[in-house]
Amino acid sequence: MTPSPEDEKRPPRRLSHALSVVVLAVFGVFLLSIGATAALLLEQNSSFRRIFEADFGQAMEAADLVREAETLNGQILERALSIQRNDSELSLLEVPEIAIFRDRVVALRGGQAGAGVSADFIEKLIGPYLAGINTLDQQLRLERDLLNQRAALVDDLILVNLSLQKQIGWPAPVREKALALLSQSSALLVVNGPGQGRRLRLRIDELRQSLRQDLPLISTGAEVLATIEDIAGRSLELQQALNDTQQRALALLRNVRTSAQQINGAAFGDYQDRRTNALAAMARHSGKASTTLVLMLVLAIFATVLTIGVMSFIARRITRRLDALNKAMTDHVGGLRPDIPIDGDDELAHMGRAFSVFVLARDRAEADLALIAVTDALSGLGNRRGFDHHLQNEWRRCARDQLPLTLIMADIDHFKLYNDRYGHPQGDECIRQVGELLRRVLRRPGDFAGRYGGEEFVCILPATDHEGALSLAQAIRHDMAQLNIVHQGAPENGGRITLSIGVVTLIPTEDIPPQHLVDLADAALYQAKKSGRDRVCGTDIAGVNVESA
Ligand code: GH3
Ligand code: MG
Ligand code: MG
Repeated sequence: MTPSPEDEKRPPRRLSHALSVVVLAVFGVFLLSIGATAALLLEQNSSFRRIFEADFGQAMEAADLVREAETLNGQILERALSIQRNDSELSLLEVPEIAIFRDRVVALRGGQAGAGVSADFIEKLIGPYLAGINTLDQQLRLERDLLNQRAALVDDLILVNLSLQKQIGWPAPVREKALALLSQSSALLVVNGPGQGRRLRLRIDELRQSLRQDLPLISTGAEVLATIEDIAGRSLELQQALNDTQQRALALLRNVRTSAQQINGAAFGDYQDRRTNALAAMARHSGKASTTLVLMLVLAIFATVLTIGVMSFIARRITRRLDALNKAMTDHVGGLRPDIPIDGDDELAHMGRAFSVFVLARDRAEADLALIAVTDALSGLGNRRGFDHHLQNEWRRCARDQLPLTLIMADIDHFKLYNDRYGHPQGDECIRQVGELLRRVLRRPGDFAGRYGGEEFVCILPATDHEGALSLAQAIRHDMAQLNIVHQGAPENGGRITLSIGVVTLIPTEDIPPQHLVDLADAALYQAKKSGRDRVCGTDIAGVNVESA
């Protein structure tokens, strides 16, 4: 089957198009999976960065703030307790813990506020907290001043007590009352319970009034009595002031502690919120990771199936057919003749068809060459090579079957003269006509007619007896005469072209070469020439009589 001219003009591109589509599909799936994975990974990466860089950092700041607030609280409490035993002038706001605490607040404020309680709220608590510490500090200083005053008052008490010892001129009741006032005042300075203090105050007031009334009873030491009364009055005031100050300091301490607790609570809440956020982000990440894995699995399965499909497509539509075509082509080159695959309507099918055309053309050319190799161009009969080949075959066959083989050898008489008189082209035409004649006369399929060389012709007649061969030779001679080709250069043969013919018949044997038959035929022909030309001379050494067909 040969491709139509239209196919040759426009070669089909179906196979390459199909391959392009398949390869693009595979590439598309690949890009899609890479893109999806990259997007998911980027999203996960950003959420993790947020957790680690912002939320965890801030959560740690909040936790630190809680810790620092606790430490600071302890420090404040310690100072509040030790204020009476310590004369340090260092302000509460100058202790190192305050500085550390402030740093924590700044760190928490500097971070990004997340979904947690937020630094704003904490900051609202920080101001009052620090102000509370400041106020408490002032209150504690005031208390220490009062305590210093109390120490001075105790000193005065001791001195005036000594002066009182010397007032021996005072009436005994007055002295007793003065002594009682001093001891009550001393007691008031160290008393703590509010009920006890109240009783002491009443008693001191009574003693002071009584002593004022007793003033006329004494003649000396009036200034001592005045001092005693003054000390009692100062004791009353100082005790009151100390009482108030201590109450206020306690209240302030309570406020500071409450503020610190609020800050702790808020910071801990922030810490909790951020932890919750982190856990939620982790859960989201886990979900996305699972989705990614499932997606990757699905894509991997899809890609595998697609790849198998592509492989089988390529094997079915290309590789196997290409192999078959390649094998067929190689076999043809190696001289075999297998079928060439030409089914389908794509590039490979067209290649197969194109190759078929070449194979067909080569077969024809070979056949033509083979024919040319054994054909005489001028007469159209077999040539010398064809004759040799044919004689060899028939010789062997007749020897095997013990059949007679006849060789007729014919030569145009006085042909040199014909050429000389009528020219070489005319001589060629004569040779051509003799060839035509021989083809006409020899009708049996096994017969062979050839041009032996120059103006000499041969006929191989297998399984033909001598008698039949002689009559065939005569028929040739007769037909030659019928052709009536004028040859005025040969008047002894009637002025026409004639043939001298030698006929030999024998039964071949394997041990004798076929050339023997040729020599005998040549001798018979020579005999015909010598006997006057235009005649048939025969030699029969077959000794058998075979019916001629
Ligand atoms: P005889 O009767 O004894 O055969 O004489 P003859 O002239 O035919 O034989 P000879 O051998 O003397 O001459 C043969 C001639 O045939 C010589 C040559 O010019 C001629 N001849 C041989 N081949 C061809 C050919 O192909 N074409 C032509 N035109 N002439 C040829
Ligand atoms: Mg001759
Ligand atoms: Mg001749």
